[in-house]
Amino acid sequence: MNFDFSEEQKLIKKTISEFAQREIKPIVDKMEKENYFPYEIIKKLGQLGMLGGYANNIDTISSSIIIEEISKISPAIGVIISVHNTLVCNGIYEFGSEEQKAKYLPPLIKGEEIGAYALTESHAGSNALAISTNYKKEGNKFIINGRKIWITNGPQARYILLYAVGDKQNPKNSITCFIIDTKREGFKVGIIHNKLGLKGAHSSEIILDNYIAYEDEILGKEGEGYKIAMKLLTDGRIGIASQSVGLAIGAYELALKYSKEREQFGKKICEFQMIQYYLSEMITRINASKLLTYYAAYLKDKGEHCRLEASMAKLYASETANFVVDRAIQIFGSLGYSTDFDIQRYYRDARVLTIYEGTSEIQRLIIAKEILK
Ligand SMILES: Cc1cc2nc3c(=O)[nH]c(=O)nc-3n(C[C@H](O)[C@H](O)[C@H](O)COP(=O)(O)OP(=O)(O)OC[C@H]3O[C@@H](n4cnc5c(N)ncnc54)[C@H](O)[C@@H]3O)c2cc1C
Repeated sequence: MNFDFSEEQKLIKKTISEFAQREIKPIVDKMEKENYFPYEIIKKLGQLGMLGGYANNIDTISSSIIIEEISKISPAIGVIISVHNTLVCNGIYEFGSEEQKAKYLPPLIKGEEIGAYALTESHAGSNALAISTNYKKEGNKFIINGRKIWITNGPQARYILLYAVGDKQNPKNSITCFIIDTKREGFKVGIIHNKLGLKGAHSSEIILDNYIAYEDEILGKEGEGYKIAMKLLTDGRIGIASQSVGLAIGAYELALKYSKEREQFGKKICEFQMIQYYLSEMITRINASKLLTYYAAYLKDKGEHCRLEASMAKLYASETANFVVDRAIQIFGSLGYSTDFDIQRYYRDARVLTIYEGTSEIQRLIIAKEILK
């Protein structure tokens, strides 16, 4: 058994960690206050070779390192990158034709274009088979109509992996994944959702109004979309587990530092056993989350089935992140409740982790299904 990162992975960790301190930290406040989308960071990450996933020789462990290091400073940029790399780039790499890879991947790898993944609708959240966005085949054209909600990177994306149903009576075998070009007629961004946290990462409605797609814009084959959507969510969940680990470490480190500075009753608060109890629980759960996450990534890189492990990692790491931010606020006392301090940002950002890319309840269902197989 080997717990070491390879030399290349160590270099990625060092490079991305320095980048996050140098380039991301200074714009966190602007993202927070102005809901500013950090285009320039995405471009720089592209120049640094951190985008594109497998297509750019970034294995799953490296991808987890990248998302974790970014999320320590900005969980919002963490989710932008997680969606772009794990759901979109890996999706095109794994299921795309050679022509599709050649057309779509280079600008996504360079950060010149941004990707999004559009499955959710107002009546189809956990139950993706209930989607109503539909397509009709006319000659060589596929005419798509419908409305998606909560699409991360929706307002910025050039290419979107969008799922539409061909036969509402038989969704499992007729949902198809289309690569949508957002510059084409028939595509519109709807409202941008107001959110509790992750400011600067935008989620929006997207609207397809007689949008015309062609055969060579189908990812995989017609009718394979549901399988592709679920398969990509397994990868995506490792990404969100990494985002959760990074966020939890970011909050834990702030709380640890503060506990060594703040004095009450003539002592640093870290000298009180109850604060030590919180800190030890926080770091133990964080390390357990890390191990689950990197184990799922390791299995994925070995080409093994990792649906169970990805769900365990996502479930445990996202619940841990929420546990950690809660205790971190407790350690900060009243300052934790003040919007003038950074710790509350982690608290707000953490809340969605147990909801998107499959809620905690859905992860438990998947885990149960896998172990009872
Ligand atoms: C910030 C943000 C970004 C997002 N980004 C994207 C994106 O990029 N692309 C995309 O397609 N979607 C995205 N989503 C949507 C997200 O994936 C869904 O919100 C999520 O899957 C849950 O769906 P829902 O909100 O409709 O909840 P529902 O499915 O309505 O669930 C409500 C509650 O019921 C529970 N529940 C549902 N079914 C069961 C069951 N069978 N057993 C037990 N409990 C159950 C759920 O766990 C939850 O607690 C995003 C959401 C948010 C908030």
